[in-house]
Amino acid sequence: MKKLPTPCYLIDETKLHKNMEKLAAIKKQSGAKLLLALKCFAAWGIFDLMKPYMDGTTSSSYYEARLGYETFGKETHAYSVAYSSEDIKKISVFSDKIIFNSLSQLEQFYLECTNVTCGIRINPGVSYSHFDLADPARTFSRLGVTCITDIEAAMPMVSGAMVHFNCENEDVAAFEQMLAVISLKYETFLKQLDWISLGGGISYTEDHFNSQRFAQIIKNFSQKFGLQVYLEPGEATVAHTTHLVTTVLDIVENNKKIAIVDASIEAHMLDLLIYRESATFEKTIAQGEFLYQIAGRSCLAADIFGEGGFQNELQIGDTIMIKDAAGYTMVKKNWFNGLKMPSVAIRRTNGQIDLLQKSSYTDYKKSLSTTELRI
Ligand SMILES: *Cc1c(COP(=O)(O)O)cnc(C)c1O
Repeated sequence: MKKLPTPCYLIDETKLHKNMEKLAAIKKQSGAKLLLALKCFAAWGIFDLMKPYMDGTTSSSYYEARLGYETFGKETHAYSVAYSSEDIKKISVFSDKIIFNSLSQLEQFYLECTNVTCGIRINPGVSYSHFDLADPARTFSRLGVTCITDIEAAMPMVSGAMVHFNCENEDVAAFEQMLAVISLKYETFLKQLDWISLGGGISYTEDHFNSQRFAQIIKNFSQKFGLQVYLEPGEATVAHTTHLVTTVLDIVENNKKIAIVDASIEAHMLDLLIYRESATFEKTIAQGEFLYQIAGRSCLAADIFGEGGFQNELQIGDTIMIKDAAGYTMVKKNWFNGLKMPSVAIRRTNGQIDLLQKSSYTDYKKSLSTTELRI
């Protein structure tokens, strides 16, 4: 590979197609519709590659909903933990469905949503998540309606519902059990609805994921209640498709060999830091002879991507490819320390690399103040 300007998030088109094909097979076998969760991945320059496999987008805000409508098209679902009345005015113009997080939001805006289908988010009180931070059913959760009488009150105003109760779930048996609990608990409501979105958080594209069994469960559920099921994959659409390509700028030693690269975990792979996970690297070996800590160049003391055993001694100028850098990375990148922002590129199936995005000093400066604006 010719030396790519770094840092760069490099998406692999061939791997993306593989994920898309796995998802499309589930769609075909289950009858569910697939909506890309933009909060996970929103590099819209490659949506043309995803469109043939998926049915539209789902969102967490007005900007995401608008981006989905403008760049992906097909079906646009809007959801927000809390809409402002300004949001509703704009969103109701182009959205196919508006999903409300609470009964009070639904009651407040229902009459304004004349040409849009409305839904309500239900918090089923059960979930599959290894992280309290991301657990929608955590104690005192504000995500969705918990009270049965509130759900009952919402019914005349909605034709569907959303339940998001998974996070990185590869366990189809666990999913089945939770869906059975939900089916029983909300039976009377499910029978009244036309559609339900089962949210995201399922690892459809992992190698050992039992997609046939999963599709069958969805199909049965959908037939039992006469529901159109929607699935909202985020992470699964782009899992294992992308590297954060970096260059080693310095090698220092403090009881350990430390390679400092031209990126930062806090600025460019923030999710790893938040969930206290380590990055993994290409071309490392389990029993690597040459062990290095790969660290970022922000001034955060623990700006550490992780450790890897490399086949050779690292040199200044070497390329370090950090694995799995698509989901929840580009959407969270920030200007901490004023570091050069990674560009976004795609390696096409024929090997050609196309640039999707590139930021400059001007973008950094503009993100903090502009001279024209005075409130
Ligand atoms: C986060 C989220 C998703 C996407 O989740 P992934 O884990 O990326 O698949 C889908 N729907 C809702 C409501 C979400 O909050």
